[in-house]
Formats: sequence, C-alpha cells, structure tokens
Amino acid sequence: MPGFRELLTQTKKHIREIDPAAAEAQLGDATFLDVRELDEYEQGMIPGTVFIPRGHLESQVENKLADRTKPVIVYCAGGTRSAFAAKTLTDLGYTDVVSMIGGFGRWKNEGRAWITPAVLSPEQRNRYHRHILLPEVGEEGQQKLLASRVLLLGAGGLGSPAALYLAAAGVGTIGIVDMDIVDASNLQRQILHNMERIGERKVDSAKKTLTAINPDVDVVTYDVRFGADNVLDILDGYDVVVDGTDNFPTRYLLNDASLLKRIPVVHGSIFRFEGQVTVFDPYNGPCYRCLLPEPPPPELAPSCAEAGVLGVLPGIVGSLQALEAIKLLLGLGDSLNGRLLAYDALETSFRTFKVRRDPNCPACGENAQIVIAEYDDMCLPHAVLADGSSPHD
Ligand SMILES: [Zn+2]
Repeated sequence: MPGFRELLTQTKKHIREIDPAAAEAQLGDATFLDVRELDEYEQGMIPGTVFIPRGHLESQVENKLADRTKPVIVYCAGGTRSAFAAKTLTDLGYTDVVSMIGGFGRWKNEGRAWITPAVLSPEQRNRYHRHILLPEVGEEGQQKLLASRVLLLGAGGLGSPAALYLAAAGVGTIGIVDMDIVDASNLQRQILHNMERIGERKVDSAKKTLTAINPDVDVVTYDVRFGADNVLDILDGYDVVVDGTDNFPTRYLLNDASLLKRIPVVHGSIFRFEGQVTVFDPYNGPCYRCLLPEPPPPELAPSCAEAGVLGVLPGIVGSLQALEAIKLLLGLGDSLNGRLLAYDALETSFRTFKVRRDPNCPACGENAQIVIAEYDDMCLPHAVLADGSSPHD
C-alpha cells in the first residue's frame, strides 16, 4: 500500500502544476477553483473564484463548471489538496486542468490580489437554502439579491404578489411608491393588505407585511404621487423597476425616466381576464413607446376608468413580474426583453409576441429627445414648461 507521500508523488506525475505568477497571467481567462474548506475560504479568496470544498468536488463540479474544455486552475492552501483535486477533475474528463503550486498561501505572500468574500450568516444560509442549492444562484447569487434594489410602482394588485415574492427571495432593498389608502374593496386581490389595515396608508401596510416575512429586507416607502417633479429622484439608485401601475400617464412617465436612467422596467398589466408581461431594457430592446407610441383615446383606455378584474389574475401576472425582476438581477436565462407574454385566464393560455424596437420611437429612437412630461386626466401628454408648471394649469 502506498503511503501519503508516495500517493502525492504518483498523483503529481499525472497532473500539471503552475506557479502563482503564471496563474495570475490567466486571471479572466481560466476558471479559478478553490477546493479548501468554508472556514478557510471565508478568510480570503482570489477574486472571481468558484468555490467547491474538496469533499464536494465530485458531486458539485459538473453543475458549477459545465464546460469541460475551459482552462481550470485549482488551488488550496498549500498545493496538496489541489493536486489531488486536479487529478480527480482530469479523471472526470476536464481537459485543461492545472494545480497552483504553493496555493493561496503563496499567492497571498507574493502580494497578489485577494478579497474577503461576503458570506451569509447561518440564519441566511438556512432561509435561502433552496436558492443556494441551485448552482445558477448559489451563495453568490443570494449575495447579489441581498445587495439589489427593486422599485415597485404600486402596492396594489400587481405590486402585492411581486413585493411578497421579492421580499421572500431576499431582495435587499424594496422601494414602494403608492399614495393610496387601504380600502375593503382592495382585499379581493391586493394580498399585501388585510382587514386590520383598512384606512391605513398602503405603503405602511406593505412595509409591515414585508418586514414580517423577511427582516433582511429594507423597505423604502414613497407615499407620494409619482410625477414629473419626483420621478428621476425616486428612480435613482434602483436596479430594476417593477411597474404595477394601472394608467397610461404613469407608464409613459416611467418609460421616459427609465430610459434616461437606463433602468430596466418589468411591465405588467391586467384587464378583466387577461394579463400581459414584458421587459423594457433601455436601448437593448423596445421601450413602452415602441410598443404603444400614443395612448389610446380615453374611451378605449379602460385603465383610465374603473374596470373589473378577476381576483387571482394579478397574482399570476405580478408573480411573473417578480420572477423576471430576479432573472434580470441575477443575469439568469432569457428575459421578456423584446417579447410580450399574454395570459388568457379563461382559456388558460400563454402566448408570446415579438416586440421590436422602433428606430423612429419618440423616446428611444435615434433622434429622440426625452422630455419628462406630466400627463392630464384624459391620458393626453403635455410637456412641463421650463418653470415646472404645466401649460394646462
Ligand atoms: Zn422606444
């Protein structure tokens, strides 16, 4: 039976090794794989590293390193565990694997760049366990969500399910704009609120519900009318906007401001038994004005009047919006950028339609000049004058 030294010598015959200087030259091209234990990793790591403790290597590597031909540089603390790990990876079919001589210890001693990874608390690891199990999310993705900021327009039918799921998922900052008061007639679909909150400000009720679900979430409330005078300030610093408004004036205003700020908007709308969801990613896809250059005349604009809506429908559409927002935050999959998803609840069908960017769009087209404008009750846009007043005042 070979002893440890002999086994290591044998293993090293089957692998390639490079020193930290050669490894550093491949930063950005090769995948750095850290096979130390969690407590070692938490003390410091090479930036951009994939972390799989040696004991989990065989079971996790296929999920975390899908491309077996991409160069991999394995490191541990001193270069021994990484040698064995490199041999294992080679046996698993990885074609370009090297072990880093001297490990993280030598890397650090030679003054090369390293960082302390942001780590989740034990409570957070438990709370977000089902996220962490997904290799596409993992601890890194959860950290990203916790550092993310999503603004919700409206704490109503669409905003309610969206807010509940974004808070549960651990989106660290959720802003909510709404100036309404909870009314009993809201409770048929606005599941953020309840009987005890009737008469309360909607933003306050929303904050109570969300904080009770997840104390990690910082809920920022805007109990104001969303208008041309404050839209740019409110949007400032948010990563994604989830639009749960029900009227054209606000949608146009949001569209133009989000283009200026280059913040993607997850748009949702509902009417009777139908819902629509899409993503407007500024200058990477169509905007709301590409889809609808002019508001429809008031008599054809149901959202300007009170319209009926089946109770569960906003739950489905708002949940889809929350999911699209999380995908955008994590860079996961294909968003609904350039596609409009239409849901018909009566026939239980989902259809997607292509939406193209209009080169002559008045907001995102080549020669467009964005004016942050106020709109009147008839859904007709009019510009704000230089002094801030409206020509219709
Ligand atoms: Zn456009």
